[in-house]
Amino acid sequence: MVIKPKIRGFICTNAHPVGCAAHVQEQIDYVKQQGPVANGPKNVLVIGSSTGYGLASRITAAFGCGAKTLGLFFEKEGTERRTGTAGWYNTAAFQAAAEAEGIWAKHLNGDAFSDELKDKAIDVIEKEMGKIDLVVYSLASPRRTDPETGEVYNSTLKPIGDSYTATTWNTSKKVMETVSVEPANDEEIANTVKVMGGEDWERWLDRLQGAGVLAQNCQTVSYTYIGKELTWPIYGKATIGKAKEDLDRAAAAITDKLSNVNGKAYVASLKALVTQASSAIPIMPLYISLMYQVMKEEGTHEGCIEQIYGLYNQCLYADNPIMDEQGRLRMDGKELADHVQAKIAELWPQVTTENIYELTDYAGYHSEFLRLFGFGYDHVDYEAEADPALGVNGMA
Ligand code: NAD
Repeated sequence: MVIKPKIRGFICTNAHPVGCAAHVQEQIDYVKQQGPVANGPKNVLVIGSSTGYGLASRITAAFGCGAKTLGLFFEKEGTERRTGTAGWYNTAAFQAAAEAEGIWAKHLNGDAFSDELKDKAIDVIEKEMGKIDLVVYSLASPRRTDPETGEVYNSTLKPIGDSYTATTWNTSKKVMETVSVEPANDEEIANTVKVMGGEDWERWLDRLQGAGVLAQNCQTVSYTYIGKELTWPIYGKATIGKAKEDLDRAAAAITDKLSNVNGKAYVASLKALVTQASSAIPIMPLYISLMYQVMKEEGTHEGCIEQIYGLYNQCLYADNPIMDEQGRLRMDGKELADHVQAKIAELWPQVTTENIYELTDYAGYHSEFLRLFGFGYDHVDYEAEADPALGVNGMA
């Protein structure tokens, strides 16, 4: 099949297997260039391992630390007539590269919120891995089924208190427009916390600890975005921000419960980047395009893999981790620097449909967006036949 991108709104509904392999290889090459992470983990569970920050976490563990990794994700396999999801092809490429270097890797495709997948993961860990010394929690999902009640909760991306109005870039219509988002009600706030808060992270750690599969001094990390005034109305102080606040509660609770193995739970705040999850958040495409422009100009731009390699090297396995007063690991310092935020704030009201390509790095944003699905690599022949039904080795 010859595969060309099919974009619908803020998502791309197909993916290119060869291009996804290029996307994964680029990240593996980066990690290898940086060299091994000193005292890195050896047995890693990555929950949400197929795209974005979770994929980068898995690549850093495997190729920067030589760790065994068990990856969990929710992805679709391709058929002869329909492509699979990017995360499926990313995993195929990751597995092939790991096998080529003799690095153990296995994965499970299913609902990580369910107890069933938790038990399956524990089974693989017990039989094939040995005790886990790092658990990365990197799920981004619009819904969660509560494993105890079977009730389905949906998250929302809405402000809290007041409605929020801003000019933003409509990525489908390619025009600047004013958007207004009404505030969430109490139920929407509670439901978002139920989906994206710390409850499931805590449940994972309870179950892993109950099964006795956590190593002494194990660490676990869950990812957040804190941001500043520009993004607070729709992120930090909005429904998703409330859910992320709950991670701080969960981190303290998990650390407390893991005292018998001297385990530690951290929330790590990362930079805003183009991923499948962030492109769904109103105003984020414009904010990120402006931020890329400013940070590329000053030479401080980083992608997922740079952020995560830095997280391992400068935080999780560093003697003096970059940490804030609340004990959160911080990799977002360069993005949140006052002069970067001020420059973005100055440019934002000046952006029009006509000048967006000059004032912002929307071109860079869009090309990174396409790359998430394996499109836009110069060295990939997009006219050639590719196999959409590519299998993934290493499924547990
Ligand atoms: P992403 O959409 O690229 O990745 C989400 C991962 O979760 C995928 O591997 C997907 O398969 C998996 N997943 C989703 N639902 C699942 C389910 N029910 N069962 C199993 N797997 C499931 O997202 P991302 O942007 O990398 O986000 C990961 C984390 O990082 C999130 O907590 C997000 O809030 C945080 N974060 C993102 C940004 C950003 O700008 N993208 C910034 C800071 C923090």
